[in-house]
Amino acid sequence: MNWDFTCKDCGINTNKGKTNFYAVTEELWKKHGVGQGMLCLECFRKRLGRDFKKEDFPPCYLNYFDNPVVREIINPTEEEVKSLLLKLEK
Ligand SMILES: [Zn+2]
Repeated sequence: MNWDFTCKDCGINTNKGKTNFYAVTEELWKKHGVGQGMLCLECFRKRLGRDFKKEDFPPCYLNYFDNPVVREIINPTEEEVKSLLLKLEK
């Protein structure tokens, strides 16, 4: 099966660059997401109807290190980065 990286709302390729690759909490995705489909960050924010906050993004490698936009929103403390890295080592 070919994974479809197209944003379901605006049609851009979310697999281009890093900024549209992110993970939100299951709860948020169930409420505002598109199941197995993809949404770019901006379209998800529109569906959400408000600005993102730190709690929207679970600690994971993707959010903390890969995506500079999400990292900016989370702005993880040194302690949070450490505890994530510890979790990933296990
Ligand atoms: Zn979009």
